[in-house]
Amino acid sequence: MENKLKKLKNIYGELCVYCSKNIATTIDHIIPTSRYGPNLLTNLLPACKKCNSKKSSLSIYEFCSKDILFRIDEKRQVNKFVLLSEYTSEQDLPLGVTREFGLFSTLRN
Ligand SMILES: [Zn+2]
Repeated sequence: MENKLKKLKNIYGELCVYCSKNIATTIDHIIPTSRYGPNLLTNLLPACKKCNSKKSSLSIYEFCSKDILFRIDEKRQVNKFVLLSEYTSEQDLPLGVTREFGLFSTLRN
């Protein structure tokens, strides 16, 4: 857990990805665990306690404005290989992971 938060902060920065005000002290799931979101870097974001509990079981698309999604997506694109480092081969990639990277980008069009 500690190690994952550290890795996530290297990618997204010290602050909560949602409010950009508070220091991120918790790990939030892009697809909530209640909706079977995996516990992998590709599905995790650093968030403050307040935003994390406010987001609760909502998906990131339900919770975030487009501006926030774009900001997160840019960091994801830059750090794509770090995020995908948990997978040993392309075959291991769970369904939807590559699509997930593209999802934010398609919002731009
Ligand atoms: Zn926050």
